[in-house]
Amino acid sequence: MKKVNKALALLLSIAVLLGTTLWMTSAEDPVPAHEHTYEAVRHEATCTERAYIETKCTYPGCGSVKEIIPLSESGLGHAFPAEGTPTKAATCTEDGVMTFSCTREGCKETKTEPIKALGHEFAKDGETTKAATCTEDGVMTFSCTREGCKETKTEPIKALGHDFAQEGVVTKEATCTEAGVMSFPCTREGCKEARTEAIPANGHTFGKWQKSEGENADGHKRICSVCKEEDTAPHYYDVTVLDPPTCTESGKTQYTCTVCNYSFYEDVPALGHSFRNWETEQARTFFRDETQTHTCWRCGFNESQTIEGSNLANQIGLWLGGAGAFLAHALFEPIRLIISLFTNV
Ligand SMILES: [Zn+2]
Ligand SMILES: [Zn+2]
Ligand SMILES: [Zn+2]
Ligand SMILES: [Zn+2]
Ligand SMILES: [Zn+2]
Ligand SMILES: [Zn+2]
Ligand SMILES: [Zn+2]
Repeated sequence: MKKVNKALALLLSIAVLLGTTLWMTSAEDPVPAHEHTYEAVRHEATCTERAYIETKCTYPGCGSVKEIIPLSESGLGHAFPAEGTPTKAATCTEDGVMTFSCTREGCKETKTEPIKALGHEFAKDGETTKAATCTEDGVMTFSCTREGCKETKTEPIKALGHDFAQEGVVTKEATCTEAGVMSFPCTREGCKEARTEAIPANGHTFGKWQKSEGENADGHKRICSVCKEEDTAPHYYDVTVLDPPTCTESGKTQYTCTVCNYSFYEDVPALGHSFRNWETEQARTFFRDETQTHTCWRCGFNESQTIEGSNLANQIGLWLGGAGAFLAHALFEPIRLIISLFTNV
């Protein structure tokens, strides 16, 4: 059937061609007068034309059409295949074009559909385009793997943080009184950061205590062998009595510093007697005054004293007043003299 159609179409084409030629010729050379000989020719439907039967004169160059009978409402419509041919490849960012050509013979109609842009396909493994340092993030770059695409994306590489050395370096020595500094430098190349730790002060290294001279002579001192710092303190004495003082004689005491051994002697003045209370040694009599004595409880030394005018005769005179005293004296004095001749008062 298809073959027949083809042959028919070919014939028709030739006929039309001839007709046209003849007609063109007839412009100068009109088709001779003839009796029309009509023949019905079936035209098959195409993509855009409906099928019809045409009744036409067969005389060469005539072309007279008697009748056209349509056989369908419309043309067949194009027959596009399910799968098209990409006429423009999609790239990462631009849509491509898929072209569908009508499969019916003789039809050159095409339609296109977009091929969606592919989007970038970045490599799984990036490339370090900027190395991270201790404190700054680096950059990892991922290139699109599709041919011809130069697109890249980046991701930060986290800053590494410092990597301080385990072993420190003394950057400032400690002294007797001031702390020093131990530095632990960062081991990463190009980084000048360092962590520091304090080295405790050493404290002084004092020598032996010795007696101070000059201004601080009443104390002792010791000197730091490192910084020459002087430490002073008053003496701390141990007191030794060498000769204890008595009531009448001075004594001697030795003072020795228990820290620096500095030593000196001191005279202790005599204590003087310490008497007990006066006691009556000889009681008063009529004519004789009272005699008293007191004794030192420490050394036994004793002293006597007479209470002048304590005899009774004198006392009576005192009681009687001025005139009476004179009288009494005049009366008793001769008697006293007589008695005193015989006694030792
Ligand atoms: Zn004709
Ligand atoms: Zn078509
Ligand atoms: Zn890309
Ligand atoms: Zn560092
Ligand atoms: Zn010191
Ligand atoms: Zn001392
Ligand atoms: Zn005494």
